[in-house]
Amino acid sequence: MKHFDYIIAGGGCSGRSLAVRMLPYLEATNKRVLLVDRAQKKENDKTWCFWEKESDIFEPTVFRRWNHLSFSSSSVDKELDIQPYQYKMIRSGDFYAYTDQILAHHPQVSCIQAEVEKIYTEKDQAYVVIDGELFSSDYTFSSIPKIQEKRPDRYHYLLQHFEGWVIETEDHTFDPDCATLMDFHTPQQAGSSFVYVLPLSANRALVEYTVFSEQELTKEAYTTALKLYIREQLHCEHYSIIAQEHGLIPMSDHPIKAQQGRVIYLGTAGGFTKGSTGYTFRFIQKHTASIVEQLLQYGDPQVRPLSAARFSLYDATLLNLLISGRISGEEIFSRMFQKNSATQILKFLDNETSIFEEIQIFLSLQKQEFAIALVNRTLKLIRSN
Ligand SMILES: Cc1cc2nc3c(=O)[nH]c(=O)nc-3n(C[C@H](O)[C@H](O)[C@H](O)COP(=O)(O)OP(=O)(O)OC[C@H]3O[C@@H](n4cnc5c(N)ncnc54)[C@H](O)[C@@H]3O)c2cc1C
Repeated sequence: MKHFDYIIAGGGCSGRSLAVRMLPYLEATNKRVLLVDRAQKKENDKTWCFWEKESDIFEPTVFRRWNHLSFSSSSVDKELDIQPYQYKMIRSGDFYAYTDQILAHHPQVSCIQAEVEKIYTEKDQAYVVIDGELFSSDYTFSSIPKIQEKRPDRYHYLLQHFEGWVIETEDHTFDPDCATLMDFHTPQQAGSSFVYVLPLSANRALVEYTVFSEQELTKEAYTTALKLYIREQLHCEHYSIIAQEHGLIPMSDHPIKAQQGRVIYLGTAGGFTKGSTGYTFRFIQKHTASIVEQLLQYGDPQVRPLSAARFSLYDATLLNLLISGRISGEEIFSRMFQKNSATQILKFLDNETSIFEEIQIFLSLQKQEFAIALVNRTLKLIRSN
């Protein structure tokens, strides 16, 4: 049986983030890592957007950045000052190429393309079956999606699904310095839905139609919504579609185990997708950075939870409200952006606010509706126990 100090199962966003961050630790300790993914990872299969105050290690892969954002709905039209944050976009293809370049020739990292068939933990080892062969490790980090067989009634399950087009227009349609974070000028029948517009230049942008609902839409429904938005809101009749992206991110308050014995879960598989927004990229970066900090300090990769438990309660309450339909996503986010500074909201969505700051935000929201959602969520938990 082959042994590696660490195995990273899944070389997508979180697997590669961890591998690159681990390099100084590997060099200092002479330890070895096996990184395995079933895919070659050459395609540009996702676009990651996130906000941050400072530059992180993947700054060289940032494709575009914006200092200004805007929010629009039937009741609010607002340019958002997000300083000291910047809103950034990384194309996964660039990220894979950059990390390949760093990892591929590193003597302490072995990268293989193969199928992970099984992962299990016994005593002080983690075992991984890869293409029929058994490997052992001191720890295995896995971002392989977990199949959720049971969906207990006490939790909420919603999908964030989206279709995005990179379009090129004949005229100068976009302000390259300002990205649209949310524009609710879309039909709201299918669920809370909005469009975001990320300008790549004055005549090129990623226009993405996003819906929060329990089911995905038909291909035609996404197409109709995007065409309508481009015509009615961007006032653009003539354009070509350069690239397309479709995605689905599960939004849930179903707790996910971040560790089982010697197996540590990363990324979406580890529960690092924020239940109420689907944002994951920054949480992955914070998690993988803290694993490496622990390794460097104590030689042990086990970390404490990244966020205080109360943030899961907030996510669950918001999910309850969105699923119940008592007030729409448009009403919730409009009030949030109307009454609070954008930087406070971004800090809150990063799970980094203090309780005092959170009280300020809650007082600005639809208090009665949120209180009912909190009670309903608690009753749901109690009744199905
Ligand atoms: C289209 C899309 C757009 C997104 N945009 C954003 C965004 O803008 N901002 C944000 O914060 N979040 C975004 N997300 C959410 C999240 O950031 C991404 O899903 C991110 O890629 C999650 O990283 P991960 O490492 O958990 O999973 P992945 O990046 O999917 O990595 C998992 C890896 O496991 C491999 N794998 C799976 N099964 C096996 C197996 N059996 N054997 C070997 N390998 C296997 C896969 O090939 C994959 O490479 C987006 C998600 C999608 C789907």
